[in-house]
Amino acid sequence: QKAVYASLRDKPAVTKDGVEISLNVNAGLLVDLEHLKEVGADGVGLYRTEIPFMARSDIPGVESQVALYRKIMDEADGKPVVFRTLDAGGDKVLPYWDNHGEENPAMGWRAIRVTLDRPYLLRQQLRSLIRACGGRELNVMFPMVAEVSEFMQAKRLLDMEIERESIKGHRLPSRVNVGVMLEVPSLLFQMDCLLDQIDFLSVGSNDLFQFLFASDRGNPRISSRYDTLSPAVLNALSSVVKRCHEEDVVLSLCGEMGGRPLDAMALVGIGFRKLSMTASAVGPVKMMIRSLTLSALEDFMKLQVSKPKRSLRAILRQYAKDRDI
Ligand code: PEP
Ligand code: MG
Repeated sequence: QKAVYASLRDKPAVTKDGVEISLNVNAGLLVDLEHLKEVGADGVGLYRTEIPFMARSDIPGVESQVALYRKIMDEADGKPVVFRTLDAGGDKVLPYWDNHGEENPAMGWRAIRVTLDRPYLLRQQLRSLIRACGGRELNVMFPMVAEVSEFMQAKRLLDMEIERESIKGHRLPSRVNVGVMLEVPSLLFQMDCLLDQIDFLSVGSNDLFQFLFASDRGNPRISSRYDTLSPAVLNALSSVVKRCHEEDVVLSLCGEMGGRPLDAMALVGIGFRKLSMTASAVGPVKMMIRSLTLSALEDFMKLQVSKPKRSLRAILRQYAKDRDI
C-alpha cells in the first residue's frame, strides 16, 4: 500500500471528471516540512505555531521566532504556508504558562483570547512572521475567533506591525493574506460581515465539531455518540461553502476529518476544494480523489444531507464500495 501511495506522489489530486483538489499538510515541527516534500502536497495548510512554543522553557523572542519561521518558509521551498498564531491554552499547555486551574479549558482562556489580552505576545509573533516572510507571501490566520470584532482587533495589530516594519526599513512580505479559523459555532451566524474582512477561512473541524455537539473532543465515553458525517455538520459546512463561494473567499478545512478518506469524500462532495491533513493521510486521500466522479457524488450528497439520519457514514461507505472508490 505504501508503494502505491508513493507512486501517486507526483500525480495531481484530480477527480475522474477533472476537478482538482488542493491537498496540504498540517505541520508543527520542522520535520513535518520534510513530509511535505515526501508526500507531494501542495503546501502547509496549517502550521501550528504553538508547537515550538510548547517545546521550550520560556517564550521565544522575536529573533528566534524569525529564525524559525524563516526556516519553515525555506523548507517549504515556494509552496504556501499558512501560519496560525499562537493557539495556547485548552489542551495545549505551555509549561511556563499558568492556566489558572480552569474547569473548562477548551472553552476557557485560550488561543486568540490569550493573545488579545496579552497583545505584546501577538505583536511579537506577527512582527516575526512579517520579517520572516520579507519578499515572500505571508498567510496568517487566527484561531478560535468567536466574534468578528476579535478578528478586527487582531487585524489592527497586524496592520500596526506591518507599518512598524516598513518604517524600520525591513523588507515587507510581497503579499499578506489574512484568515480566520472556523472553530466556534457563533461565527456561522456572522458570515456576512466576516467574509467581507478576510482572504480565507479554514474550518478547524476538531473544535467546531466539539462545540457544535457540546461534545468533548477528548472524551472516549462520548466519542462515538456523534459523527462528523452527520447532517448537522454537513449542512453547516455546506452553507459555509456556498457563502465563501459567493464572496470569493478561499475555503479550506484543516481538522482531522479532512485526513480520513471517507470524510474527505463527503467534504469534496459538498464543495470543499482544499483540505489540510496530517502528512500520512495525503496518499490515501489522493487515491480516493483520483477514483471519484465528483458530479455524481455531488448529486448524491444533496439528497442525503436532508435526511433525518444520525450519520451518513454507512451510506457513504456503501456508495464508495459500489463505485470502487
Ligand atoms: C481544529 O480544531 O480542527 C484544528 C485544526 O485545530 P487544533 O486541532 O490544533 O485545535
Ligand atoms: Mg482547534
